[in-house]
Amino acid sequence: MMQTVIISILITILAFSAMEFIAWFTHKYVMHGWLLKLHKDHHKKDTDGFFEYNVFFFFPFSLLCIFDLFYYLCNCLIRIYSSIE
Ligand SMILES: [Zn+2]
Repeated sequence: MMQTVIISILITILAFSAMEFIAWFTHKYVMHGWLLKLHKDHHKKDTDGFFEYNVFFFFPFSLLCIFDLFYYLCNCLIRIYSSIE
């Protein structure tokens, strides 16, 4: 039991660290790199419009997240149904 708790805490710390590194890396080298054209208006607003070009980053990031959640949900349902039979 104690070993499971320690492993869970380590996995949580590792996942959090990886997420923060990817966010930092993506912001520094992608959003301020070859996709600066989309990200520029997030730091310096040039128009009076409500939306920014920066919101286009929503699509790749959220689609990955939605895919991961869907994949996890499908695996959980498969395990539940296979344990019922
Ligand atoms: Zn930025």
